[in-house]
Amino acid sequence: MIVLVINSGSSSLKYQLFNMQDRSVMAKGICECIGTGGRMTHKRPGMENYTVEVPLPTHDDAIELLLKVLTDREYGVIKDISEIGAVGHRIAHGGEKYKKSAIIDSRAIKELEELNPINPLHGPPIIKGIKACLNRMPDTPQVGVFDTSYYSDLPDYRYIYPLPYELYTEKKIRRYGFHGTSHRYVAAQAARYMGRELSELKIITCHLGNGSSVTATAYGKAVDTSMGFTPQEGAVMGTRSGSIDPSIIPFLMKTDNLTPEQVEEIINKKSGLLGISGISNDAREVNNAADNGNYRAQLALKILGNSVKKLIGAYVAEMNGLDALVFTAGIGENDFVVRRLVCEEMDYLGIAIDEEKNRFTIKGKEGEISAPGARVRTFVIPTNEELMIALDTCALVR
Ligand code: AMP
Repeated sequence: MIVLVINSGSSSLKYQLFNMQDRSVMAKGICECIGTGGRMTHKRPGMENYTVEVPLPTHDDAIELLLKVLTDREYGVIKDISEIGAVGHRIAHGGEKYKKSAIIDSRAIKELEELNPINPLHGPPIIKGIKACLNRMPDTPQVGVFDTSYYSDLPDYRYIYPLPYELYTEKKIRRYGFHGTSHRYVAAQAARYMGRELSELKIITCHLGNGSSVTATAYGKAVDTSMGFTPQEGAVMGTRSGSIDPSIIPFLMKTDNLTPEQVEEIINKKSGLLGISGISNDAREVNNAADNGNYRAQLALKILGNSVKKLIGAYVAEMNGLDALVFTAGIGENDFVVRRLVCEEMDYLGIAIDEEKNRFTIKGKEGEISAPGARVRTFVIPTNEELMIALDTCALVR
């Protein structure tokens, strides 16, 4: 079966076309500047990229263009869109309703629209992407794969916040967790690497990128995660603060007369690596500055590393043990300094990494970085959310 995977953002739409027979990527690309301009970059393995600038006023126009390019005589990889057996959509938020990947029909779209108030940034563009696909391919099954589903088995005492209980029952304020598809994928890959069953392992996965989250998986199920009601909680991120004392927010609003939007801008767009270093949200630039002796860049990396270390400690305590620690996403896969900062002085917990492997051998590829004899095995595993979405889509449609 050929599966098209769609990841819609507010102004961009990423896609990958999979041949599920051998799980190969037939083509992938991105439509950018939707609503403000329009550019598409289309890649096929072993071929030159195709880039085109055309107006893309809506997500529907982006889907129309990508289907045209996928079936183009020169740039395409299929003859007709009827060859696409199913479309898998990355959906950030499935609320409490979607505990598993699901077929998306008009009723499901309505249910997803009802989640927009608690998912105002990511919800609407995803729904636009799904509607555009249904418009252009009404007979092709559409599947939703939810970032939040992986956390549907969290125990209540880990997803209920210590706030008035009515805020949960009436406003649905609770920990939902995000990046679930990535954590699910790399936890399974770690078990495969170890030649063990996922159902017998305790694993902590650190998805460290522009957005960062840490998840504890015990015996095949997520049991805690650092992102909460929104993807703001937890570890330090590129521009997001992660967890802070909540009273800082009303303090700033009162003392500086800030609106909720202005505070949101500070904690979402001006904090994290960028806010501390004053240099960039890009870990590569922060690392370069740190190497050149910049104090705030060094501090930013230390605060990021420590925020992840604390979460690992908490999750080892919650799971009463740990078999494997996994690093993934842009920073987790590539940044040996952050991995070192996270793992140093963790031998009490059985975590120790081999400096040589961490620094030189395993970079942007799958591999083990544990020191010889370490009780906990530590891995770098590149994430592949798109493949996970394609696999779920294929399984559901079949
Ligand atoms: P992601 O959100 O997973 O795309 O990750 C983005 C983050 O990964 C940015 O902070 C990048 O600086 C970082 N990153 C990507 N490649 C590298 C690299 N080779 N070395 C260090 N950091 C990297």
